[in-house]
Amino acid sequence: MEECIFCGAEVEDDVDECPHCGNRPLAGQYLDPKTYENADQMEKDGDIKGAWELLHEEYRAHTDIEYFDDETAGILHDYLEALFARHSELVAERISLLLDEMSICGYWGSYDDQLMERGVELSQNANRPDLELKVLEMHRSCRQTLSKVYGFDSETLDERIAKLKALTTG
Ligand SMILES: [Zn+2]
Repeated sequence: MEECIFCGAEVEDDVDECPHCGNRPLAGQYLDPKTYENADQMEKDGDIKGAWELLHEEYRAHTDIEYFDDETAGILHDYLEALFARHSELVAERISLLLDEMSICGYWGSYDDQLMERGVELSQNANRPDLELKVLEMHRSCRQTLSKVYGFDSETLDERIAKLKALTTG
C-alpha cells in the first residue's frame, strides 16, 4: 500500500486513480515520462530556452497548491538547476524559478531569507538590477504573507512588537 500524495488515503501501489480524491495518487504520475528526454534533446539541438520552459512548466504544474507533488517537483528543480549551471545566460529564467520557490514557501509558511540571498547574489553577479528588484519585492511580499498568518502586516507587526516590549518591560 502507498499513501495518496494528494489526500493521504491508503491506495494500492499500482492504481492510476485514488478512490478517495480522484487524483493520480503516486508521485510523478502526472508527468510525461519522456519530459526529461525531450528537454535533453532540445538542449542538444540548441533550444536552451525551450528546454527550460518545458521543465519549468512541469515544475509549476507539480507545485500547484491543489496538486502538490513534492517528489517530482524536486527532481524537476534539480534538472532546472543543472541546466542553469550549464547555461548561465538563463539567469532571468533562473530568477523566475526562484520567485516561484519564494512564493511557494511564502504560501506554506516555510519561507526563509536564503532564497532571497541566493536571488540577490545571482542578480548582482549577472549585473541585473531589474532582477534583483523583482527578488526583493517578492521577499517583501513573502515576509508580509508570513506576518499576516499571525494577523500582522509589516506595519502592525512593528506596532505589536513595540507594544509587547512595553508590556514585558513595564
Ligand atoms: Zn487521494
